[in-house]
Amino acid sequence: MFSGQLPTYLDPRKYADQERVIEGEARVGDLPRLREYRESLDQPVRIRLAFSRDDDGRRHVRGRVETTLALVCQRCLETVESRIVADVDLVLVWTEEQAKALPADLDPLLVTGERMTLAEVLEEELLLALPLIALHDQCPNSPLEESGEADEEQIKPDNPFAVLARLKGRRK
Ligand SMILES: [Zn+2]
Repeated sequence: MFSGQLPTYLDPRKYADQERVIEGEARVGDLPRLREYRESLDQPVRIRLAFSRDDDGRRHVRGRVETTLALVCQRCLETVESRIVADVDLVLVWTEEQAKALPADLDPLLVTGERMTLAEVLEEELLLALPLIALHDQCPNSPLEESGEADEEQIKPDNPFAVLARLKGRRK
């Protein structure tokens, strides 16, 4: 399933105590919750996660998960290839109470008694890193002049007809 030394199952407590680093590459198609991104299934997912234990006895996982997904641009509705980078910085907890007790600047990763797969951690982090709205920097089918900022400033917001006329003019 995964290339390199990536494990299918995680034992986060043991990894933290061993200060283990896992590094390698998977495919978007390896992550069940990302399979709806059909155009992106062959995209590599690059992974580096370092487990550690600090002086307070907290166990951490830190690192980065990144890939590219074909999202839908909310301006032109065409595909926009979006780089998704999840910077991971989590504290391992075993109960909801431990999660709630963490200082506000620390995010928990709830480890249950069940076997935890690497895939579920990766997909969760990537989904959290998705942009709320995907947009092209410059939509492929829109001419440059349409995004001219000088034009926007001349439109008076209290005159909707002027705005409309201007929009119509642009479409020619
Ligand atoms: Zn677009």
